[in-house]
Amino acid sequence: MKSMEIQCAACGAITLVRAEPVYDGFKKTGEAFICTACGRRYASAEETPFVAAASRPQVFSEADKPRALSVFSDDERQRSCSWCKHFVVNPFGQRCGLSNKETQATDLCVRFEKKAKPASPPPAPPTPDPLNPEP
Ligand SMILES: [Zn+2]
Repeated sequence: MKSMEIQCAACGAITLVRAEPVYDGFKKTGEAFICTACGRRYASAEETPFVAAASRPQVFSEADKPRALSVFSDDERQRSCSWCKHFVVNPFGQRCGLSNKETQATDLCVRFEKKAKPASPPPAPPTPDPLNPEP
């Protein structure tokens, strides 16, 4: 028997639920969960107030998750190989110019040295100006 911890919305107890298969005819369509303390039945896992883990309070809503997963500050993010002056990109792949090993733009490296920012955007290829042609 599968059982999981919930904080029951009916009796308030932190207790276990009993999973009960839900059948539509002979086809299992899902699972219901029954509070082992008071017998309250939750029709689906979505409705069941599971306690995910005692050490992990449910402080994040679904909307907060992407932000919570963003563990790098901008400064840290820029310590990845793509920002390193040793990072070499050529038609055969990308590698570290120091170790000569293949690397990923997102790798973090202890030998990171920040690449100097280009002073200006790369010059556009010269285009002939029809009104003012070069001599
Ligand atoms: Zn209950």
